Amino acid sequence: MAENVEICIRGGGIVGYTLALLLARLNLRVGLVKESDNTKSSGQVVKKDIRAYALNQQSKTLLESINAWPGSENVTPVHKMVVHADQNGLVQFDGYDSSNTKKSSSLSPLSWIVDVQSIEEKLSDTLNQSKVVVLNQSDEKRSQNIVSFNAPLTVICEGNKSVSKNQLNTQTIKTPYYQNAMAARVRVSQPNQGIAYQWFNSLAANSNDFEVLALLPLGGEQSNEFAVVWSAPERWISKLKEMPEAEFTDSLSQSTRGLFKDITLYSPRQSWPLTFSKTTQWSGAFNPKQSWVVSGDSAHTVHPLAGMGLNLGLGDAASLYEFLLERELHSSWRPLNDLRLLESYSRQRKLSILGPTTFIDGIQRLFASDYSIASVIRNQGFNAFNNINPLKHWAMKEAMKTAT
Ligand SMILES: Cc1cc2nc3c(=O)[nH]c(=O)nc-3n(C[C@H](O)[C@H](O)[C@H](O)COP(=O)(O)OP(=O)(O)OC[C@H]3O[C@@H](n4cnc5c(N)ncnc54)[C@H](O)[C@@H]3O)c2cc1C
Repeated sequence: MAENVEICIRGGGIVGYTLALLLARLNLRVGLVKESDNTKSSGQVVKKDIRAYALNQQSKTLLESINAWPGSENVTPVHKMVVHADQNGLVQFDGYDSSNTKKSSSLSPLSWIVDVQSIEEKLSDTLNQSKVVVLNQSDEKRSQNIVSFNAPLTVICEGNKSVSKNQLNTQTIKTPYYQNAMAARVRVSQPNQGIAYQWFNSLAANSNDFEVLALLPLGGEQSNEFAVVWSAPERWISKLKEMPEAEFTDSLSQSTRGLFKDITLYSPRQSWPLTFSKTTQWSGAFNPKQSWVVSGDSAHTVHPLAGMGLNLGLGDAASLYEFLLERELHSSWRPLNDLRLLESYSRQRKLSILGPTTFIDGIQRLFASDYSIASVIRNQGFNAFNNINPLKHWAMKEAMKTAT
């Protein structure tokens, strides 16, 4: 069966699954190489991922189109977002006017906060009912040569620790943020009302140590639950992970500047190292008959401060699907390993992600700077931005459409 696959997708994360389901709509035999369900690259047993992602309108539409959008119990629309800079700077985003009618009833949510586990389960269920051939990668075979399947096209979606990518003739430029991100879930005393909050806090005077703390509404607008995403220097995250629960909720209360009282932690605390990375070449040939492309975190990673990583990865999947659909409709004589076709995808995606990744990296650096002028720029800049409505609307629309 594996020998007959025309497109081999390597990596069973959200991007790999989504791409497999999209490409299965075409007249192609698609295979997905995934690790066994309870072990991953590290060989360790996988824990339940307690993150919740902020997904934009385009990601929602894409996941709905392949029947992979979870049920409403796992999705909370965000109607308002309040972002605090380290001093008095503040930006507030309200519902987005998608119809330009100025009626409040027509305001679309800014984003949707989705339980990660529920998207993965939905994708897995849908994939099991599709014609995609699932090829389980047992641990001992992980280091096998990636050209072992005869597919004319291989798509690498193995995330940022991709082993297969190391076998390609491409480089990845990596810049560590010197921060880790911690995820957890908490309850507070009042309903979340579909409001997302973010605080940029300096951790010490005259130092470039800072944290970004986000509280994302979970469980619907009437629920009192939030997903926490806390990015900070590694040593602070290690402390936050290990400290007793009461100390943790006190720290959270302090970092949210007293907005929430009676915070209760109801999940484990998990963390990830953070790196800005981009792959220099997104497509190439293994040999004259077989080519490769990269997608998702295998191609790029950004700081989670803007909740964009997966939105960009789903944009890669949507774009590759569009190019292959176009081939099927208008130039099916082109082989799937045609480098000109694959380079069109690479060029388009490199250009599409340039704006968002540069913006996110710029914000991160602005807060990582200990120059007093940077402090003035970020706080006054936040306030000025908040007062220019057309600029805010433009920024929101851009954030909504980064997927393609
Ligand atoms: C704390 C945190 C919060 C975030 N919040 C958001 C957010 O709000 N919104 C957003 O858009 N993004 C967010 N992101 C980014 C998001 O997590 C990633 O962009 C997304 O998970 C990338 O998906 P992926 O499928 O490309 O890679 P991954 O999720 O890394 O999946 C890769 C898969 O490939 C498998 N694999 C690896 N090697 C092999 C192999 N050799 N063979 C077979 N399979 C293999 C892995 O086991 C894994 O299942 C956040 C990230 C962090 C760290």
